[in-house]
Amino acid sequence: MRRTWILSGIVLLGLAAAGVSAQRGGGGIPPTGTIEKIKENLYKIGGAGSNTTVFITAAGVVLIDTKFANNGEAILKQVQTVTDKPVSMIINTHTHPDHNGSNDYFKDARPTIEVVTHANTKKWVDANPQSKPAMKPDKTFTDRMTLGKSKDQIDLYWFGAAHTNGDAFVVFKALRAVCVGDVMAWKMAPLIDPATGGSVIALPDTLEKAVKGIKNVDTVIEGHGDVNTWAGFRDYARFNRALLDAAKAGLGKQTPEAIAASLKPKFPVFTKEELLTDLEYGGTPLSRAVINVNVAFQELRGEPVTTNFGPPRAGGPGRGGEGQQK
Ligand SMILES: [Zn+2]
Repeated sequence: MRRTWILSGIVLLGLAAAGVSAQRGGGGIPPTGTIEKIKENLYKIGGAGSNTTVFITAAGVVLIDTKFANNGEAILKQVQTVTDKPVSMIINTHTHPDHNGSNDYFKDARPTIEVVTHANTKKWVDANPQSKPAMKPDKTFTDRMTLGKSKDQIDLYWFGAAHTNGDAFVVFKALRAVCVGDVMAWKMAPLIDPATGGSVIALPDTLEKAVKGIKNVDTVIEGHGDVNTWAGFRDYARFNRALLDAAKAGLGKQTPEAIAASLKPKFPVFTKEELLTDLEYGGTPLSRAVINVNVAFQELRGEPVTTNFGPPRAGGPGRGGEGQQK
């Protein structure tokens, strides 16, 4: 029941954020974007929910995440501008419907397409009555799995809970690139979904394990928004550790706003106070940091986490409160 609330919250938030965006003249959640080349045989399509990463292999096209529902045709049209090969595999980085919503378009057209996720993501998809059959994985992994070989090799890694507890890291070995799903999106502290095992306390450990465990990568494709560098990802891991450390030190003494603001000098990118273009999930980087300090407080106190997915209030950073689903 709770999970359904949270999933609905994500979608509702998308709509709420669309309102924010419309006020800014952006017209709401953008449609499926134009395909952008990242490296040879590796592309990204933005808009309409998650980034969709497109990896062209000898056997066909591997899609990592498929956006909200009803974007399959638009995704395929973009893919067809760079290759004639059919889609042969879908990897979903986690369970949220802005990442696996259009699986069905591809799977209906070609039932042999394999859907691959982490085992915990399968658990959440199976448990959600709103899941379509095409969201259900055909293949899962636990800690690590390799698919394909030589220039087509994909290494899947899992390092622990973060945004959910089923977040896959998808490494394109020959291209020195990795998709990190919503473990890192929009260059801000991640949205934590407690209903699918997400945790602010676990997050820095998971990120540090990823920094140590993934080798020879220079390009990081975030779950939403831009492509980052490995150095940017390492800095992000340090930021999330600093946020948790500051929350622990300030628990019962400082406000979440003061704690988040204390991170500004060292981590200016992750504590910006402007709304970002095309951000469906609402909030500024600083308001997200405030939210995650609130989440840390709740986790540290052993209270239920009531993550706020809502956009910030006009005239100030968001607080854990408005937009809550319960
Ligand atoms: Zn997500």
